[in-house]
Amino acid sequence: MTDAATRQFVRETRRLMVAALDTLTRSLAAADRATAEARGDEADRSVENEAVEWTSSLRARKTEDAAALRRAVARIDAGEYFTCEDCGGDIPRRRLEVIRTATTCVGCQAKRERAAADVPRDYGIRPERRITSRPLEDQ
Ligand SMILES: [Zn+2]
Repeated sequence: MTDAATRQFVRETRRLMVAALDTLTRSLAAADRATAEARGDEADRSVENEAVEWTSSLRARKTEDAAALRRAVARIDAGEYFTCEDCGGDIPRRRLEVIRTATTCVGCQAKRERAAADVPRDYGIRPERRITSRPLEDQ
């Protein structure tokens, strides 16, 4: 874990994440200013409603991205970047090269995704019952 190439990778990753976080923070602040200005214009409200909603979901995603970056930088600073937060095992460098904000090993990530799949996503709107391959007359 402490070879020169790995240290270089961690240094470079941290630098990139801090820069990305800075950019995200600025664009979130700019989006907030724009939203505040849009709110002031009552006449355009209905027209802009849709755009504002879209912006808030985009904002939520950007806020999540910023949180993930902040967490990854904190994990680097704490010396935990290569440690899976679920099982305590190693996260291979190759995984972190692909997903720099990963906090779990591949196995634990798969477990999380299976668990998340059981929770209804789209605000409780469940997908239609799975279509079976049986012909209609058999149902
Ligand atoms: Zn794990």
